Amino acid sequence: ATQPYDDDNLFAKILRDEIPSKRVYEDDYAIAFHDIAPQAPTHLLVIPRGRYVSWDDFSTRASEAEIAGFVRAVGTVARAAGMVEPGYRLLANTGGHGGQEVPHLHVHIFAGRPLGPMLA
Ligand code: 5GP
Repeated sequence: ATQPYDDDNLFAKILRDEIPSKRVYEDDYAIAFHDIAPQAPTHLLVIPRGRYVSWDDFSTRASEAEIAGFVRAVGTVARAAGMVEPGYRLLANTGGHGGQEVPHLHVHIFAGRPLGPMLA
């Protein structure tokens, strides 16, 4: 079972602009901003506006419109940043074993160098 959504989590505060972030994109469904500790030359985070703890919470509870809007936003951010060629990587850490640190769904976008094989 998914934990209840915490309105005081870091990304909830970034959504409300209570904590500053370097936003690169926003629409009705999602916002995107630079990760504070980039693991690649380009490292962005895309989050839905809705109150979802994780990929699991979102994929089971969100409406079709929210799911479509979020997926489209992830693609739009990568495309707008010119990452489609030569390519990029998406990652959604989920839960404890997934190494998720912030309990609001976020998809990482990594790009800007050859990323090599997937790490364990
Ligand atoms: P997770 O480990 O949950 O998948 O990813 C959390 C990400 O949030 C990490 O990559 C971390 O660097 C990033 N992060 C942590 N605190 C902040 C912050 O205050 N601002 C921004 N923009 N990113 C943050």
